[in-house]
Amino acid sequence: MATIDGLPPLREVIAAHELVAKKQLGQNFLLDLNLTAKIARQAGDLTGCDVLEVGPGPGGLTRGLLAEGARRVLAVEKDARCLPALAEIAAAYPGKLEVIHGDALEVDVLSHLTPPIRIVANLPYNVGTELLVRWLTPKVWPPFWDSLTLMFQKEVAERIVAKPRTDHYGRLALLAQWRCDAKIVLHLPPEAFTPAPKVHSAVVHLTRLAEPRYPADGAVLSRITAMAFNQRRKMLRSSLKGLGPQVEAMLEAAGIAPTARAEEIALEQFCALARIVAAG
Ligand code: SAM
Repeated sequence: MATIDGLPPLREVIAAHELVAKKQLGQNFLLDLNLTAKIARQAGDLTGCDVLEVGPGPGGLTRGLLAEGARRVLAVEKDARCLPALAEIAAAYPGKLEVIHGDALEVDVLSHLTPPIRIVANLPYNVGTELLVRWLTPKVWPPFWDSLTLMFQKEVAERIVAKPRTDHYGRLALLAQWRCDAKIVLHLPPEAFTPAPKVHSAVVHLTRLAEPRYPADGAVLSRITAMAFNQRRKMLRSSLKGLGPQVEAMLEAAGIAPTARAEEIALEQFCALARIVAAG
């Protein structure tokens, strides 16, 4: 059957290169090129953008990104077995696809990219959250990227977009929503992948804000939210005892009831508390 880009169907690519999925590399491949193009479209107009893709595997999403008109794609893949398949895509799109063989947690990608930059990936589950946290906590803001369009296990996606007073609300929601707009844009059942994982997946789209949503020192905000959510069922006057004897006065000055629990507190209130603690 003809494909969107004239390259062989992914099942043939995987068979030709004997790409048996490896569990330890989080390999669950997307083989439907209509679906990968749909995921690529969730990243917005790619025509004037460089795209960083982590974990291209046999290249299904890579082909979606190129077919959707990305100016350039930089793909970082740890599994050397995938490189010949990716080289075939690079040959079909001259000058548009650069592949780096390495670990995305270690490779320096910045020198290979020109702004504006979007990050799009069907992330290996074992490194997905760590990469997201790194992308959300650069030394300076705004970061090198404009948006992140990332596949996660559904449960992780829900933690990123969660609102107060819900089970999934916690540090990841606060971290993401402090400096980004974050929403789930696509749900995928296990059968969308080969092999099918045990869990459902979802694509989250995060667009960075020019400034954090509310002023706060990132390190202080991180410290107090860690303390608060490490004991999420406790009242804040108890979980935040480490802030010192003034903890109740600080909470009240931030408009937070000392008897409230972490999961009831909105981002704006945590930022107010972070400012009071920093000034303290
Ligand atoms: N993007 C492909 C797709 O959608 O079909 C593959 C997605 S698969 C869930 C994750 C990919 O990330 C695999 O190709 C795996 O080899 C790669 N990978 C795993 N750990 C990695 C790491 N630390 N750095 C770069 N790639 C990694």
